[in-house]
Amino acid sequence: MQFHLNGCKGSGDPLKLQFEGKVEPDFQTSLPEDIDVLVVGAGPAGQLLGAQLAQFPNIKTRIIEPKPGRLEQGQADGLQCRTVEIFEAFGFSERVLKEAYWVNETTFWSPTEDGKGLRRTGRIRDTEEGLSEMPHVILNQARLHDLWLDAMKWSPTRLEPSYNRQLKELTIPDDQTKPIVVTVEKVGPNGVSQLEMVRAKYVVGCDGSRSAVRRSLGLEMKGDFANQAWGVLDALVETDFPDLRLKTAIHSANEGSVLIIPREGGYLARFYIELEKLQRDERISSKNVTSKMVIDRAKRIFKPYKFEVRHIAYWSVYEVGQRLTDHFDDVPKSEREQRNPRVFIAGDACHTHSAKAGQGMNVSMNDSYNLGWKLAAVLHGVAQPQLLHTYSEERQAIAKVLIDFDREISKMFAAKPKNKGDSNDGDTVDPAVFQDYFTRQGRFMAGVETRYLPGLLTTSDTSHQDLATDFEIGTRFHSCPVLRLADAKPVQLGHVMDADGRWRIVLFGDNMHDPTDPSSPLAKSCDFLRNKLLPKYTPANADIDSVIDVRGVLPQSRKSVNISDLPEVLLPHKGKYGIQDYEKVFTDEESYGFGFGDIYRKRGVNKEKGCIIVVRPDQYISAVLPLEEKAHDMMEEFFDGFMRPQEIKYLGNLSGLLTAGAKYADEKGMSHEELLSFRLAPDMRPLPYQVQSCSNTAKAFFSRMEVIEEVKLEDDETTFEQLQDRINKTIELLRTVKEESMEGKEQEPILMKTGMGNFKFESGQRYWSEYALPNVTQFHFHLCSAYCILRHLGVPIGAFDYLGKDTFVKV
Ligand SMILES: Cc1cc2nc3c(=O)[nH]c(=O)nc-3n(C[C@H](O)[C@H](O)[C@H](O)COP(=O)(O)OP(=O)(O)OC[C@H]3O[C@@H](n4cnc5c(N)ncnc54)[C@H](O)[C@@H]3O)c2cc1C
Repeated sequence: MQFHLNGCKGSGDPLKLQFEGKVEPDFQTSLPEDIDVLVVGAGPAGQLLGAQLAQFPNIKTRIIEPKPGRLEQGQADGLQCRTVEIFEAFGFSERVLKEAYWVNETTFWSPTEDGKGLRRTGRIRDTEEGLSEMPHVILNQARLHDLWLDAMKWSPTRLEPSYNRQLKELTIPDDQTKPIVVTVEKVGPNGVSQLEMVRAKYVVGCDGSRSAVRRSLGLEMKGDFANQAWGVLDALVETDFPDLRLKTAIHSANEGSVLIIPREGGYLARFYIELEKLQRDERISSKNVTSKMVIDRAKRIFKPYKFEVRHIAYWSVYEVGQRLTDHFDDVPKSEREQRNPRVFIAGDACHTHSAKAGQGMNVSMNDSYNLGWKLAAVLHGVAQPQLLHTYSEERQAIAKVLIDFDREISKMFAAKPKNKGDSNDGDTVDPAVFQDYFTRQGRFMAGVETRYLPGLLTTSDTSHQDLATDFEIGTRFHSCPVLRLADAKPVQLGHVMDADGRWRIVLFGDNMHDPTDPSSPLAKSCDFLRNKLLPKYTPANADIDSVIDVRGVLPQSRKSVNISDLPEVLLPHKGKYGIQDYEKVFTDEESYGFGFGDIYRKRGVNKEKGCIIVVRPDQYISAVLPLEEKAHDMMEEFFDGFMRPQEIKYLGNLSGLLTAGAKYADEKGMSHEELLSFRLAPDMRPLPYQVQSCSNTAKAFFSRMEVIEEVKLEDDETTFEQLQDRINKTIELLRTVKEESMEGKEQEPILMKTGMGNFKFESGQRYWSEYALPNVTQFHFHLCSAYCILRHLGVPIGAFDYLGKDTFVKV
């Protein structure tokens, strides 16, 4: 964990110190009228999404939830290895590992030959060796919710769900520039309800299987009819059955099956108890099943073992059904070229599974993990909105695969054990076949089988996969221990990939060159990244690793490498004080007392050649590339597909100066008006005028060359928000300039219209060299005036904020 970059804030909990506001935000009294992302529903999908977006103070997120507070009693409890890896990215895996039950072994029980008893027919390791550094665990969903609430609460925004609220109506205007209008019903303490109107840029329906958001999009759940009823019972039982503390599948001769899932805490266990087949159109609710009926069935299945329930913590009955919607957003496939999605559904709102393969809650959280960083990237202006199409494309395909798997495994759970002479009609299953299927499908149940197909975010070029055979393109980055070069700390490489919305480029060095030699392949790639790729996509006023975080892994011993000689991108200067980040480089060698990760061998990385791995913010591998110059164009082409170049540097810097000004005013209790009306001299203009002039000068440069339309923006901004909006509009406009439209402009005459009359330049060349370029000083005059006003008032800004942090590189 890294902190203190911008100054030591004291010795308190660093997570709690992330919040920089003065007043604790209030999420309960009323909703703001304008929101960036409205999350509907605080189940596992909604809470993960909230926790992801809560990392970004400049994204206004709200979660609405009908419940009055925290979840008291959850249904789900199985957490796959991959899900625990995600918890690590959000910073709370340790708590889960400590509290949860670890599923280490699974046993299988079938009827004895005479059909009168039960015998253990198999015992397998639950999760295949080396599948993940995290175990498969069991933890009550309500406790998991608490951990998500904490993750949000101690984020930079202190986000929490806005309770007692539910979505009533949602209107998506045809005009894409207009916000989505949402009507929310809030129930007050006296039971009286009132309506709140919210305008949102994006809405995400995480509102479960009866999703109101799904209904408002007119999407239908399609799939199998649920004709199998199950009872679920969390209880303290007295039994002489020996495998109570192991995950166990029991198939009895004639009474159905039970799945035992031991629960956290050492005593409690969950039992999934097969009830009866339902007729078409029959619902389990119509059967008036009681807890006694469920327990009686369990007793019969457990026979001859004793099964005495001493205490019931929770029980319920449910039907199994596998259902799925065609897409997970508001844009049908046929309209994808015309518009970008703005409303999404995630989790049970778009797919439902049976409980026994432990998929539902896990897949739901993975949905919103896929979506969260994409929304943040688009809202931050670093990615193009077309990126959002990939959410439905990727997740719908995954849900389909998981639903097919779930259907198969549910059928096997419900089938009777096959006896000699039974036909192969699908109603019976050979215990050996069941166990074999269970073992083979372990990767699904561990959640590591997700494989994104080639598309915008997953390269179809697999020609370099042999450079890192076990970092498979399309799958999640499989962590492995490495040693941190700077301080010899053994770390899991995957655990440096926090859920902070950043891309990662991992450079695996080769053993044929000295990595500190500027002509080595590693150093050349670092140069390209530092001087070309990163500045292209990183806002000028942000740290160089804030969009793409470059990491290095070296095959050499850390003792043979002088860290200060490594390329700058692996040791970047960051933050307010330009302090170096020492935690980006790792080596593959024995640690002091914690073993040897052996990452090159275990992940099949070619030591003689090295390689480059491009990893998405949700930790999936987009590309495996050679550590050679030819990879540079490949990387640029890949990122150009969905990222937004941030080349309009000084307007970006101006935006950063304004942000610092507003923050300073808030901290010092100054009114924004006071700051905005300040003049350096009585006859000089205040801040809004300086910003407007920067914008006008920049626009005019291009419209005079007729490469963009002349767009008049009223010079009427009076607040920081409006000024930021003005800068954004100007940047948007300048981004529409196409490189090719500038071709030949140097020969063409330029007409300049001004209030003092029209002036003609005989060529673009003369316009630039004799008027525009010297007059760039006009832009800088206003930018500098804005800087000086803020600096004079005490705002803590410096030359780096004016020029951009990528201007100087310490050598
Ligand atoms: C008995 C049982 C056991 C299970 N065990 C497992 C397991 O071990 N592992 C596993 O992975 N999955 C399991 N599941 C499935 C799992 O519970 C779900 O897949 C998971 O909860 C889905 O999460 P979600 O966030 O999509 O939806 P939900 O958990 O259903 O959350 C939806 C939220 O939206 C809110 N909401 C509803 N309507 C509105 C509205 N109009 N406006 C605002 N908010 C609204 C609801 O109050 C709720 O909080 C089990 C399910 C059952 C029934």
